[in-house]
Amino acid sequence: MNQPVMIAGAGPVGLFLAAELALAGVPVVILEQAEDPASPLKRLPFGRRGLWTTTLEALYRRGLLDVLVEALGDQSTGPADAHWARGSRRPGGHFAGIPVFDDGSESRPWRLAGPAGDSLMIDTLTLEQVLTRRAEELGVEIRRGLGVTAVETSESGVRVRAGSLAFETPWLIGCDGGRSTVRKSAGFQFQGTEPEFTGYSVLVDLDDPEGLPQGRHYTPAGMFTYGHAEGRPAALSMAEFDGGVYHRAQPVTREHVQAVLRRVTGSQLVVKTLHQSTTFTDRAFQVSSYRQGRVLLAGDAAHVHSPLGGQGLNLAIGDAMNLGWKLAAVCKGKADAGLLDSYEQERIPVGAAVLDWSRAQVALMRPSRASRALEAILRDLIATPDGAAYFADRVRGASQRYDLGEEHPLVGRSCPDFELHDGLRLGQHLRSGRGLLLDFEGDPRLAEIASGHPNLDYLPRDAQDRLGLTAMLIRPDGIVAWVAADEPRLEAAARAAERWF
Ligand SMILES: Cc1cc2nc3c(=O)[nH]c(=O)nc-3n(C[C@H](O)[C@H](O)[C@H](O)COP(=O)(O)OP(=O)(O)OC[C@H]3O[C@@H](n4cnc5c(N)ncnc54)[C@H](O)[C@@H]3O)c2cc1C
Repeated sequence: MNQPVMIAGAGPVGLFLAAELALAGVPVVILEQAEDPASPLKRLPFGRRGLWTTTLEALYRRGLLDVLVEALGDQSTGPADAHWARGSRRPGGHFAGIPVFDDGSESRPWRLAGPAGDSLMIDTLTLEQVLTRRAEELGVEIRRGLGVTAVETSESGVRVRAGSLAFETPWLIGCDGGRSTVRKSAGFQFQGTEPEFTGYSVLVDLDDPEGLPQGRHYTPAGMFTYGHAEGRPAALSMAEFDGGVYHRAQPVTREHVQAVLRRVTGSQLVVKTLHQSTTFTDRAFQVSSYRQGRVLLAGDAAHVHSPLGGQGLNLAIGDAMNLGWKLAAVCKGKADAGLLDSYEQERIPVGAAVLDWSRAQVALMRPSRASRALEAILRDLIATPDGAAYFADRVRGASQRYDLGEEHPLVGRSCPDFELHDGLRLGQHLRSGRGLLLDFEGDPRLAEIASGHPNLDYLPRDAQDRLGLTAMLIRPDGIVAWVAADEPRLEAAARAAERWF
């Protein structure tokens, strides 16, 4: 394969996916519409994003988490002035504004606490800078100021138009965000539910900055979140249930923010200055298929939903982690294109669940008596240890499991980060992006199975705590594909190795 794979969009997903492909030796070119990667919306406070377990594990498993934390500097500990950071306990996420305090995440079955952790606040610009550096180090070419305008597909490849230029590529991946040109041009079906509210994130000077209560609040007209620190503009987020009509329809002026502030909060405060603003909605749409021939979608290009609870970027990086090694194996001729079917089989249900998670929060936010009644019940449930664990695991993606057709509860889940007797943790052995047959007992028959698969490494190592297991097959994305709890069933191990490698 000589022609590079092409990716539309150098957002977090395009960059992460490009690095995954390049790590496996596949040449990649990214076409990015924007000339300048540093838009103000990527900086704090609007560029703030919460990363959860699945994304932190993905970064950790590629040796990028430490790099990101270092690049974030003081920010990595979280914003000291954020409303949710003020209490004595920090919530591990929220559901429609109800904080989730879960203190027992390290004691879940099939999990071992490790360096990846459960949550990290980042800004998009720093994340993209770290991912850009990694992609370029691996040889990815990023062509900025070159937006994809049209896509034509054939059996053997894809013709990608970017203005007056045209490129041929064997595979095109649309990572070009929620309004994806690739999705529209290649004719993907996009289905879902229309919005109920317009969301506003604004930075303002108010005549009386102490005049609004800090934190998240439901009101008879919607919901608002307010954070104010001395000497800085106040950060205000508001959801107004107007059917989402204002979003992108008209410019957001100071006068308009003033009017929405009065309607949503009921206060008579005056907006003296509007420094910055952005709008969003709770429109929740997903493509019915993630692949059409040689065109694939990942990230917001494949699914959009409200930013409630910080899910989109995590979902998107999950797509890239799932797709990268599979597409690389196909490009290198080590697997047939059928392997790509598992990408959508695994990721469509995860995406659909996130969209429903977003819709469920909207149902709770509606300014109605029924929603307030439901909120009271959910608050009680979230305050119980089991309730907190359920909500925290859903928010963080820690309960995600792909149905790989195997009964063992660990198969299809993220692998535990075993502390191995070589002084390393399992996650550190995944940096090469290859699969691993981890054998706690050094059984030569397993070594032989692994030797038949060039993309699979054999790792005979014991661990501090084996969780009662003797061996495990781990895909490059860190997902467990097979386990043995006693004498390994060699046929099953060989079948799993054959299926994935
Ligand atoms: C206010 C807000 C808060 C959020 N908070 C969180 C959070 O806390 N946690 C979380 O997980 N998610 C959050 N999200 C969602 C998250 O930002 C997105 O899901 C994520 O950015 C998706 O990444 P992406 O790479 O798919 O798309 P984008 O980040 O949209 O990147 C797409 C890239 O493609 C480029 N592009 C567009 N069109 C073309 C074209 N035709 N050709 C070439 N390039 C093109 C764009 O310039 C851009 O660089 C939030 C979103 C918003 C709006």
